[in-house]
Formats: sequence, structure tokens, C-alpha cells
Amino acid sequence: MPPDTALQAEPTADPLPGWVQVAVVSGPPRLLSYRTDGVKLPLGSRVKVPLGPRKQVGYVVGHLFDKPDIKGLRAASPPLDPEPAIDSDLLILTRQVADYYMVPWATVLNTAVPGGGHVARKGPKMRQVVTLANSEADILAAIEQLKTRAPKQADALTRLLTHGPLPTTELPAGVVPRLVQRGWVTVAKQAVHRLPLAGLIPDRATAPVQLTDAQKTAIDAVWQQRDKFAPLLLHGVTGSGKTEVYLQLAQATIDAGQQVLLLTPEIALASRLSLAVRARFGEATAILHSGLSDGERLDEWQRLRQQSDKVNLLVGTRSAVFAPLPRLGLILVDEEHDSAYKQEETPRYNGRDVAILRARQAGVPILLGSATPSLESYGRAKSGTYTLLSLPDRISQRPLPQVELIDLRDQPPVEMGGHLSPPLVDALTSTLEKGEQALLFLNRRGHTPVILCPACGLTYRCRHCHVTVTLHRGIQKLCCHYCGVQTPVPSVCDDCGNPLLRGIGVGTEGLVDEVQKQFPDARIGRMDRDTTRAKNAHITLIDQMAAGEFDILVGTQMMAKGHHLPGVTLVGVISADQGVHQPDFRAAETTFALLTQVAGRAGREERPGRVLMQTYDPTLPSIQHALTHDYAGFAAEEMQMRELAAFPPVGRAVRLLLRDRSERRLQAACTALVQLIEAGRQQGKTDGVDILGPAEPSLKRLRDEYRQHVLLKARATGPLRQVTRWLMAAIADTPGLRSIRLDVDVDPLNLS
Ligand code: ADP
Ligand code: ZN
Repeated sequence: MPPDTALQAEPTADPLPGWVQVAVVSGPPRLLSYRTDGVKLPLGSRVKVPLGPRKQVGYVVGHLFDKPDIKGLRAASPPLDPEPAIDSDLLILTRQVADYYMVPWATVLNTAVPGGGHVARKGPKMRQVVTLANSEADILAAIEQLKTRAPKQADALTRLLTHGPLPTTELPAGVVPRLVQRGWVTVAKQAVHRLPLAGLIPDRATAPVQLTDAQKTAIDAVWQQRDKFAPLLLHGVTGSGKTEVYLQLAQATIDAGQQVLLLTPEIALASRLSLAVRARFGEATAILHSGLSDGERLDEWQRLRQQSDKVNLLVGTRSAVFAPLPRLGLILVDEEHDSAYKQEETPRYNGRDVAILRARQAGVPILLGSATPSLESYGRAKSGTYTLLSLPDRISQRPLPQVELIDLRDQPPVEMGGHLSPPLVDALTSTLEKGEQALLFLNRRGHTPVILCPACGLTYRCRHCHVTVTLHRGIQKLCCHYCGVQTPVPSVCDDCGNPLLRGIGVGTEGLVDEVQKQFPDARIGRMDRDTTRAKNAHITLIDQMAAGEFDILVGTQMMAKGHHLPGVTLVGVISADQGVHQPDFRAAETTFALLTQVAGRAGREERPGRVLMQTYDPTLPSIQHALTHDYAGFAAEEMQMRELAAFPPVGRAVRLLLRDRSERRLQAACTALVQLIEAGRQQGKTDGVDILGPAEPSLKRLRDEYRQHVLLKARATGPLRQVTRWLMAAIADTPGLRSIRLDVDVDPLNLS
């Protein structure tokens, strides 16, 4: 650079703002102003600011060139990171999200940045990395040579050949020194990006398949909308090839030089889908989900920020919707109906709905896919707000599995602890005889969900939550599934000393025992949160099942979703009506979706599938429609129910949750709240909005806090938001109420 331009650079640059507006984490919800003192503080930077006696972290969200009319303004620190944590697009998006969910902007900003914004915390990790030290031809010859004598070494060389350099930890212990000795590889300390799942990438890339007509039509419909905002809903039955639609659309978008965001509800699915995606798109894929270590998340995020030209596709769970993607061209949301998209802590956002905002902001199409779309999305597709696309048939005209009900009321009473009815036992027997595989679905983990004393009636409950504790036999503990507290298993009743405690009900762990007793030779696997705590354990379990290492896999809903298990011809549902009786207007919808997903695991290849559902109430609509795979029928019937009471998606809802450790204080607060609502009602402040409560939710105590909730619902969004804002302000103004913890949940999914 010639010296005079360097000299000129400063004076011609934009004038520096004298003041900034900062969204302060753990500060008040409004923006605070600070002096810059001539320091450059770009929008989106993290800074430390004085707030009362302390310093807090905040995000610079506004520049002020005129002095704000506030006395005694203090100064912000210089930026905490070398570059702003948040770019301008994400500033706008987080702002919109904060407005929509009625939470402080800073909480959304903090969600958008991994690790709460400790962007510059660590440099890349240094690791011992193994690199091939010979030409490809030499290595191939070596592999030939080693194949029989030292297969592990041959394997390691093959992987190095296909993947390039790998950390020593990714290769079997003992192999590396041998290879070094032989001169095939060298080892050196290198900075590596922690690539999630690096060792799990399949060696053969999967080639795109010949599309079906329905797939082609769907892909064309999305592609026609490229470069503009367009929401589309892909309703495709299980096994209809939705994944292929995503992959080919992703390919086309990448070929056009743009980036793709693929959202998936759960970690298990993230990894499964991301493996498929990595197999096809290679290292240009980034992965972001909460199951990654902090370091991995940060590395992926940094890679997205700093090497955006090298990342074409991001697969991730809900928070990935906030990832930096400057060339975004398409958003795909798999299993869009899944409640895991909703964050059940502040900010209580729904990743799918934020994805819609983001697509609108970026001016790109968004495809929501599901076999059982949420009534929200389906309703919008029906009314034409979204474009409805459908894949009505399974690939290769394979039939959907035949679903049969087992009415448990007709079954002979089984001995205590028996949860497999005779028809299900028969079906399992014949499946095993044919050498085929079965899934048994039970959406409850642990061994026994209720422990009761038959002499005095005591049920064992959590000391901190209003729920019964579950017996986990493997670890010999009673566990609370809400707060995680574990207590020893009592040998006699705590109250009356009776030594004969009884268990009621069954969880996956107990079911495995029971099935093993019935089928002593069967190889049984279990897939639930307890067996998948280790990293990538869910992938391993599914791979084992796919490889035929189990005859029966028992599992919770994480087993039900997305997986393609060719050998499975029988699916047994232990309790189809479990969940239907939850005090939640969505209970039927959730149950229908879950049953349809589970049933969809059967018969996905040549051999047809059979599904047996045990139930005490075969007349339930969610079960009846699942029998015939009739999504449209279910949706129509359920929509009528929602219409009657103006429940979402006919109307909209907001839930206010009040929490306090003192039951008395909470009660007093609720009394005040009732008065406040009543007064508002009389002044016409609540017009157009139904306010239900305050009332005790089914989970009336959680983690030592008592809980009460208020549900606001309305046919129109405007009044609903207005009344919610009024109520929040009124609560903040009322002594005795303002000190109570208040969570605002816009579009709530969980009402317990
Ligand atoms: P879904 O996600 O809709 O349940 P998948 O995407 O898992 O269904 O597809 C089911 C199976 O069909 C997978 O094994 C997939 O590889 C295969 N498949 C998808 N599209 C095609 C196609 N056009 N031709 C042949 N097989 C296909
Ligand atoms: Zn608890």
C-alpha cells in the first residue's frame, strides 16, 4: 500500500459513533447506552459494560452519533473478540425473534452464539495427526501386502487414503507406531478442527439415485421458487424418499454457489442425516448440535464464520438456525412437526418457526418435511399460505405396513408384570423363527415407573418434583426423570416398614428383562436416553441393528424416528394409548404422529411389514387413523376439535408460567393475579382474548419450585400479543407479583 493511502485511511473512514446501545446479558430487558470513548465497537461485538456495581457482558446492537439524553453515561470496554460475534443479518433475525417471543434481545443473542459468546476463548486444538508418507500407489501396494497379515494396519491405511490426515485418536491403538516403524506414515502435532463424526464417515460416497416422478415434481416445485422467499410443505409418507429430495435439492443449491441449512429435531437424527449428507457432500458439511463437545461446536461455528466459502451445507438441531451462513440459498426442515424444535427454556423459540423468519429475511425457499405435518403447517398449506407437496407412496410401490390392533380388554389377564399379549408373543415368535427383526416401542425409560407400598399406599415421589420416581434396576436407583436426582432403592416401605414393595407399569429396561425371559435365545438391544449417553452411541445401536446383531430392539421415541432398518418386519407398540390422556390439547396429534412414525419403521425393504399395537382404547381417533395411515382424515377430525375451542392452530396461544420456591408466596401472587386479570377484564383490557387460569399445571412442582400457569388464547394474533404485553407489564408493576419468576411461552407446545 502506498504510504499516502495508509495515511488517508483513518480520516476518510466513517465517523466513529460516540455512544453505543448494548443488549446486556443478565441485565434489564431494555437496551442500555454507553460511551465508546473513541474505541471502534462494530455492531454485533461483545463488550463488557458496567451495570450497577458489576461488569456484565453485552452485545453492541446500535450506534449513536448524538449524545443520548441520559446523565452519567459510563464507558463500554473494547471489543472482547477479534471480530463481531454476530453479523448484521443475524442481528436483525435475533431482534425479530426477541420481539416475537417477547424476551430480551440479549437472551436470543446469547443463544445464537455457542457457549454464550465466548468466541475467542480457545484457539484450534493441537493434536497428534497421522499423515501418509508415501505415494498412493505405494500405499495401495502396502494395503494389499498387509491385508491378511495385519488387517488393522491395512484398514488404517485405507482410511488415511480416503479421508486424508487423521488424529491418532481416530485410529486403533497400537497401529500407528507400527505404521511409523514401517515408514508408511508420519506423526506430527497439528492444529486440527475437531470434525464431529470424523471417524464415522462411511468410506463409499452414496451416489444419487434415479428419482421417482413424485420426488421430481417436489424438487422442481422447490427449485422454481429459488432466490425468493417461499415456504413449502412436503408431506411424504414414511419411506417415500424425503431424504433424497433434501439431498438433491441441496446439491442443486450448492451447485448454484449457495449454502444449505438442514435442520433436524434431534441429535440422533442429526448424526444419522449428517452421515448421509457427509457421505454425499464430504467435508464441505458442518454440523452443529448440542451433543457435540463445546470445543467441537465452537470449531464448527468458527469454520462457518471464517471459512464460509468452504462450507456448503450445515446440518444441525434448532440452534443451528442462528448460524452464520452468508450465502444461504435454501432451508430444509426435516420432521418439521417434532416438538424437539421447541426450546423448553428461555428463549422458548421454535427452531422451525425461526427458520421461516430466516428464510423470509434471506429471501430463500424453505421446505418443511414430515410424514405427519404439524396441524400448524398443514393448516397453512391447506389455506395456501404454504405450497403443499406430497409423496403419497413408498419407494418402489412398497406397501405401507399392515397395522393391527390388539384390544387388551379382550386378552386373558396376564400374570403380574406381563406386558406382552399372546398375539404379540406369537408374532415375535414367528418373526424370530424367520430370522427377521422386530422393534418394540415403549415411550418410557427405566425399569418400573411407579413403586408403591401395597400396605399403606405410599408411592415414591421425587423430593423436588411432583412426580413419581422410576426404578432403574441396572444402577439400582430410584430416579426422577424431571430433575435427575437419584435415591437408593428402599428395601422396606419408608412409612410403614412393609418389606413387600410393588412396582406398577414398565419401562424399556423392564421390558427387555421380560422379553428376554420369553425369548431366552433372542439377542435384544435397548435404545433410550440411558443407553445412548455415550457419544455416538445411538448411531452404534442403529448400525448394530442394521447389521443384524440384534433380533429385537426395544426403545423409546428416539428409535421411532427416521431410521431405515431393512431387516425389521415387525413393530410392536406396547401401549398405543400412552400419552393420549395427557392434559394437553395436542395429545392426540402427538400420539398419532408417534404411532405413524413407529409404524413407518416396518417393512421398508422387500419383505412386507406388520405392526401390532396394544391398546385399552381402540376407538381413539389417533389410533384409528394410524391404523389406516390416514393423515388427512386425522387432521380433518382433529382440526374440528381445535375449531370448537379456538385452540391452535385455529387460534394462537401464549402461556405464562409462574414459579416460586415458596408455595405460600406463589399462592398470594396468584390471588393478586386473579384480581389483576379481573380488573383488566372489567376495563375491557382483555377483549378478544380468553384467559384461563391461573391454575396448577400437572407438574405442579419442579426442581423445588412450585408452579402455576395462565393460558391466553385468541383467534387473532394482534389482541393476543397486546393483552400478553399488558399482563406482563401489569405483573411487573404489582408488588408481590413482580418478584415471582415468570416465563413467557409464545406458541407453547408443552403445557405440563
Ligand atoms: P423417508 O425419509 O421418506 O421415510 P427415506 O428417504 O428414508 O424415506 O427413503 C426410503 C428408502 O428409499 C431409502 O433407503 C432411500 O435410499 C430409498 N430411496 C429414496 N429415493 C429413491 C429412489 N428414487 N429410488 C430408489 N430408492 C430410493
Ligand atoms: Zn425431581
